[in-house]
Amino acid sequence: MFRKAHLLFTLLCGGSTTAIMIIMSLFYLSVSEKSLYDNQFRSFQNDVSTITASLEESNAVSMQWLARIEAQNGYYIFVTDNGTPFLYNDLHSDIDSTSHLLSESLDVYSSLFEVENLDPEGTTYSGIWHFEYEFTSPSTGGSFYASLIDIERNNALSQFIILCPLSSLSSSIVSQRLLFLLIDLCAVIVLFAFSWFFTGKLLKPLQENHEKQLQFVAAASHELRTPLSVILASNECCQTASEEERAGFSQTIRGEGKRMNHLIDDMLTLAHSGMNRFQIKQKPVELDTLCLNAYEAFEPLCEQKGVELSLQLPDAPLVRCNCDPDRIAQVLSILLHNALSYTPEGGQMKLSLFYRKERRTYFEIVMADTGIGISDAEKPHIFDRFYRAEKSRSTKEHFGLGLSIAYEIVTGHHGKISVHDNPVGGSIFTVRLPERT
Ligand code: ADP
Repeated sequence: MFRKAHLLFTLLCGGSTTAIMIIMSLFYLSVSEKSLYDNQFRSFQNDVSTITASLEESNAVSMQWLARIEAQNGYYIFVTDNGTPFLYNDLHSDIDSTSHLLSESLDVYSSLFEVENLDPEGTTYSGIWHFEYEFTSPSTGGSFYASLIDIERNNALSQFIILCPLSSLSSSIVSQRLLFLLIDLCAVIVLFAFSWFFTGKLLKPLQENHEKQLQFVAAASHELRTPLSVILASNECCQTASEEERAGFSQTIRGEGKRMNHLIDDMLTLAHSGMNRFQIKQKPVELDTLCLNAYEAFEPLCEQKGVELSLQLPDAPLVRCNCDPDRIAQVLSILLHNALSYTPEGGQMKLSLFYRKERRTYFEIVMADTGIGISDAEKPHIFDRFYRAEKSRSTKEHFGLGLSIAYEIVTGHHGKISVHDNPVGGSIFTVRLPERT
């Protein structure tokens, strides 16, 4: 499911950015090509204006001057005298390929203007006159900017046709397009690679969350099945059991029912924390009183098991901690319950409370025991839901949810919970709660 979503998001992300990039590239290319053509046409018009001014000034035109202009600008110049092609036209080195250009350019010119205006005998105009236009040679397919300069002197009409080939402009436009195509191709590859990477990063927490939920549901169903099957089996036995046996079975059913109830409560607490419906009702609380209450609640149990429980509170009166007293009492109960469960007879447990001032002021609750301890391999997992170390699996009242609930409560208060080894053996759990969250 996530692989498909990853692929889909990549296509969506990469596709949309690629489409935007291609549209922008095409827009830029069209603007740039238009300005290239416009610049070339303007520069040709300027050249023609300069040539026209020179022709206007001089009475005779030398072939060397025309050849120099052609060589300098890469133009073709044709001259007609009263409609007769001038001898100069035959001097072009590529006369075979250029001979038709004169007639073709004049044909286009004629189609643009009325025929009588070009009549050399006509009197419609006098002096010097030029006009620029674009034409494509039907025989070669080459494109040109063309200019026709008419000069009428002493009733004789000279025509200069100047052709500027657009082949070099076209080839630079083709190479510009190829360059853009190459850049766009590279950009598309990079964009898709980035989209794959980023959508992967985006989906990873969702995927992890989904997997955790599946694990949670599987573990919860597994844990619920055991007491349920005991209840069903005991109920079955009740049908045929004697009065005395029945009392025993109903006690088992009650005990397993309580276990289920406890487990469901824990699961609901965690489910609410996962849905951000974990309510923390904060108010100023005397943490030392909370610790004292927890100590008093566990003292008889510890005595019963033969474990020594001590309490260490600060001597000076404490400022109040802004926290949810019920939730913090739940954390204390989880830590004390675990310490008692995993500390054998003759062991010691110590609950301490400190008020510390570093960069920020915080309360530190320390639960130390001299019990079985937690191996380094187990430490990273003990706050996971339904995690139970191998040696505690046999105990029926442990579901592996206590510490994950404590973790949710402490982090819900913007605090921290951690565990490390007790130097004299056993474990030390430390809870840090900021004075103000
Ligand atoms: P459980 O209900 O099994 O105690 P917890 O989430 O409270 O579940 O604890 C997870 C695991 O961490 C336990 O199964 C146990 O292996 C280990 N653990 C917790 N507290 C202690 C402790 N004080 N000493 C040794 N092991 C502990």
